[in-house]
Amino acid sequence: MTASPLQAIRLPLLEEKGVSFYIKRDDLLHPDISGNKWRKLKYNLEEAKERGFKRLLTFGGAYSNHLAATAAAGIKYGFDTLAIIRGEKRLPLNPTLSYLKLCGTEMKFVSRSAYRNKYEPQFLETLDIDQEEYYIIPEGGSNTLAIKGVAAVVEEIEEDLGSPPDYISIACGTGATMSGVISGLNGRSQALGVVVLKGSFMSDEIKKFLSLIQKDHLDNWSLSEDFHFGGYAKFKPPLIDFINEFKTTTGVQLDPIYTGKLAYALFELIKQDYFPKGSSLVMVHTGGLQGIAGFTQRYGPIIAQ
Ligand SMILES: *Cc1c(COP(=O)(O)O)cnc(C)c1O
Repeated sequence: MTASPLQAIRLPLLEEKGVSFYIKRDDLLHPDISGNKWRKLKYNLEEAKERGFKRLLTFGGAYSNHLAATAAAGIKYGFDTLAIIRGEKRLPLNPTLSYLKLCGTEMKFVSRSAYRNKYEPQFLETLDIDQEEYYIIPEGGSNTLAIKGVAAVVEEIEEDLGSPPDYISIACGTGATMSGVISGLNGRSQALGVVVLKGSFMSDEIKKFLSLIQKDHLDNWSLSEDFHFGGYAKFKPPLIDFINEFKTTTGVQLDPIYTGKLAYALFELIKQDYFPKGSSLVMVHTGGLQGIAGFTQRYGPIIAQ
């Protein structure tokens, strides 16, 4: 897959604050294997093929970008796919799950309480799944091979700019993508993560991922935990207004779960002079646009498209 474009954004606020702002358009990598989920799957798919697996098994919520990406990757790379989905089955299927169905992904729905034990050794057996047959990918695709896949984004950015930017910023869900960026930077510049869930566990999660790849000595990263808008997949009107305005002024579509919160946070931080004059800042657009259809189904067409 070829590198995604790096797009320079010009807006009056950026001029005024002297910040060079770029968007790494990983949303354009593939319409369904979106953004970071493609990078996270890449080496997992290679590993699965090498080890002779024909089937992928993974986990996620009913609107998961990762499940959509895995379903699409299964078709493209010739794997059968099985998704373990959190929560009871509801009909009609939401747009994400309809897409899984279209891709031929087998779906097993489990209660939220059972889902919590999904990594227990007996869990798959209780669902009558022969786990020997499957290459198993954790929720969100987040494992060490995912981190390795994401690290390449840093190289691509550097190649386009001629040098690393002062900051690379990313939305954090499980923290694996952020860990990949930190690993790719390998001590240079600053990685800034914007956490899209409520709570203060992300820093530990990232440290765990970094220690798995022997990179826990790296400390050129920080997190912003003030822009979750109430929690994962929660929102408030100012976030929606921002996403719509951003689309109008830049032409770039953001999603309300991840990249909308990320861009909102960055523009708030720019307003607050968080980034010194003359800084260069790359926001990674990790995709997730497939989620807008499900969001619209729940809340109405509040996101302009
Ligand atoms: C999954 C996802 C993220 C978060 O990635 P993690 O590795 O789980 O932190 C960010 N942006 C989008 C669009 C995603 O789908």
